[in-house]
Amino acid sequence: MNEVTTGPAVLILLGPPGAGKGTQARLLEERFGLIQLSTGDLLRAAVAAGTPAGRAAKSVMEAGGLVSDDTVLAILADRMAEPDVKAGVILDGFPRTAGQAEALDALLARTGQKVGAAISLEVDDEAMVGRVAGRFSCAACGEGYHDAGKPTATAGTCDKCGGTAFKRRADDNAETARARLQAYHAQTAPLIAHYRSLGVLESVDAMGAITDIAAALGSFVARQTG
Ligand code: AMP
Repeated sequence: MNEVTTGPAVLILLGPPGAGKGTQARLLEERFGLIQLSTGDLLRAAVAAGTPAGRAAKSVMEAGGLVSDDTVLAILADRMAEPDVKAGVILDGFPRTAGQAEALDALLARTGQKVGAAISLEVDDEAMVGRVAGRFSCAACGEGYHDAGKPTATAGTCDKCGGTAFKRRADDNAETARARLQAYHAQTAPLIAHYRSLGVLESVDAMGAITDIAAALGSFVARQTG
């Protein structure tokens, strides 16, 4: 069993695009009151707002590459400075490079914290492109759907909030998904060995039902949040 950190829980979800990191982070947020912190969401907000960081990130994101460590770290450090993160965080899509992992450790060390668990969502690469290319979400509440795997019960209406506007990410197409998978294997997958060597790695088979995966993750997180 892993050592439990003294401060708020800091959990990492690792896995390729389409593995379900965002879906599972949202469920953990609801169940444990932790804060989902997605660098992809923060970057998309920066792009939409037209900030300097957003302008630097836009074309890289559209091509499925990784935004520079400096840009991502600046955005993450700002978000980590907000008071709500004291509840504990689930990092979704961060760290993605060895440099980001080191910088995260340094950032946490300033407040006597460390990573409590890094949970790797294990999936079949082959299935990921199809998962990513068909996904969309409710523009009002963010509930996620998939054209084939999880359509809305009533066409055009969100099951959760009744909203009727939906959105698709610009980078959720087959070509960009392949580039994102490549970036994952080249730069992010090595972090699995890194967190294993620190004794904080957990792995979950993430090809099954969302609820089964959530139950497995919940048991790891319950240990961290005591
Ligand atoms: P995501 O929403 O996690 O799939 O991220 C969407 C895109 O944002 C990625 O394909 C990258 O271009 C960029 N991105 C998100 N998080 C990071 C990160 N930690 N490091 C570098 N680029 C990132």
